[in-house]
Amino acid sequence: MAQSVAPVSSRPALPEIAPISLKEIAPWLAFGGILMLVLLYFVGAEQGATSLIAGKDVHEWVHDGRHLLGFPCH
Ligand SMILES: [Zn+2]
Repeated sequence: MAQSVAPVSSRPALPEIAPISLKEIAPWLAFGGILMLVLLYFVGAEQGATSLIAGKDVHEWVHDGRHLLGFPCH
């Protein structure tokens, strides 16, 4: 008995992905950069004279991050 080989089905067509232009992604890059700078500020400089938020809560929350990134602490 001859076995038939199933025909090789062609792959389903993938949707075309349009390349993202720099002009489209630039605002998101700027937003992400600003977010990273704010995070870096809170991890690295939110204490003492440069503190924007009173108290030590923010410092305590990011304390391990300070040590991990090598910022001076105590
Ligand atoms: Zn510390």
